[in-house]
Amino acid sequence: MAAQTVATNDTTAVDNDNAVDLGPASALSCRECGERFPLGPIFACEICFGPLEVAYDLPTGDPEALRKQIEAGPDNLWRYAPLLPVPADVATKPNLNPGWTKLVKADNLARELGVTGGLFIKDDSGNPTHSFKDRVVAQAIEAARAFGFTTLSCSSTGNLAGAVGAAAARAGFRSCVFIPHDLEQGKVVMAAVYGGELVGIEGTYDDVNRFCSELIGDPLGEGWGFVNVNLRPYYGEGSKTLAYEICEQLGWQIPDQLVIPIASGSQLTKIDKGLQELIKLGLVEDKPYKIFGAQAEGCSPVSAAFKAGHDVVKPQKPDTIAKSLAIGNPADGPYVLDIARRTGGAVEDVNDEQIVDAIKLLARTEGIFAETAGGVTVGVTRKLIENGVLDPSLTTVVLNTGDGLKTLDAVAPTTGPTATIRPNLDAFREAGLA
Ligand SMILES: *Cc1c(COP(=O)(O)O)cnc(C)c1O
Repeated sequence: MAAQTVATNDTTAVDNDNAVDLGPASALSCRECGERFPLGPIFACEICFGPLEVAYDLPTGDPEALRKQIEAGPDNLWRYAPLLPVPADVATKPNLNPGWTKLVKADNLARELGVTGGLFIKDDSGNPTHSFKDRVVAQAIEAARAFGFTTLSCSSTGNLAGAVGAAAARAGFRSCVFIPHDLEQGKVVMAAVYGGELVGIEGTYDDVNRFCSELIGDPLGEGWGFVNVNLRPYYGEGSKTLAYEICEQLGWQIPDQLVIPIASGSQLTKIDKGLQELIKLGLVEDKPYKIFGAQAEGCSPVSAAFKAGHDVVKPQKPDTIAKSLAIGNPADGPYVLDIARRTGGAVEDVNDEQIVDAIKLLARTEGIFAETAGGVTVGVTRKLIENGVLDPSLTTVVLNTGDGLKTLDAVAPTTGPTATIRPNLDAFREAGLA
């Protein structure tokens, strides 16, 4: 009952011609010109071609009641169902129930980096397919259900393909996903094992994405829900739950600084949207926060634009071990620049060697084995502190968005047994490890 009364109002059905039930979502609105459209599988404004976002009738009632309702919810992202484009009974449907991952107080890492204000790792490797992508797919799959799609698809840098494959398997959808042909074995196997179709494309992620845009416009792709293309507005909302969780886990407080990886820039953009919503709802106190974006040097179009003071992002051809972040032409790049500048943050990049060092640093200090994207955020955090850009006396949350087991190749050449010995004590003594 509470979910309905706090989260929706009577205009929902009127705004929405399709009469689909996506909970408090009331319409799609253009991020550029503000034009509104009924909820549907569309992603670009018909007037100005700007990206569409989900608009809500947000709860206007007592924040304390909403906070209690959330806290009494399930230990997954559906505790925030009143703030997401999903039906109120979403938790009863077959899905992977991701989210509510650990926020680890990283005191050992803080000591190494000289952070005194409190350092936390939001560890999204704990999701069902071991990356943050389960969050966005969970939203997209509800939209796919509402719009009657039976095949789920995506263009992916690896993690998304696995998340779609797994979610589709559980929810009873067919899936057919597209990846660059040269991804890490861990990503390829995880994308294929759930039994859906997996297609390697001879090209970069940007080629894969272009291919998918063509497929959507062709009869071949008719009836397909592409989670990050025609379902992108819904998909994006999954990233907001990272903001919600971080704040709730900090005792309903916004951290002073957040370090977030950038591939397309959607996650960073929606985390900012989530923080703004929490402020509007009165769930957290309004206070300044700084958002820092993290890229790999070998694919750093947003970082380059930030440093050059540009508003537009010049596409690059990616060449980095951080393949999950290797998008050379990031769709949300300009919005990331906006947010970094508006909040007083920055966008920075680190090279492959620094990424590997940072993966090992996090593993050695906190027992968390991150994929290369986590090496990027930890490495960038270190660099920003060294450069005096990130303030070590403030509370800082660094995102780890994926599991190191998926990118073993990155660390394998420099990581292995300390010694290999014959099975007797003499041999062990000789090895000098006792
Ligand atoms: C997809 C992905 C991201 C961020 O992607 P955006 O396109 O910027 O939302 C971050 N980390 C990992 C591991 C990913 O797979």
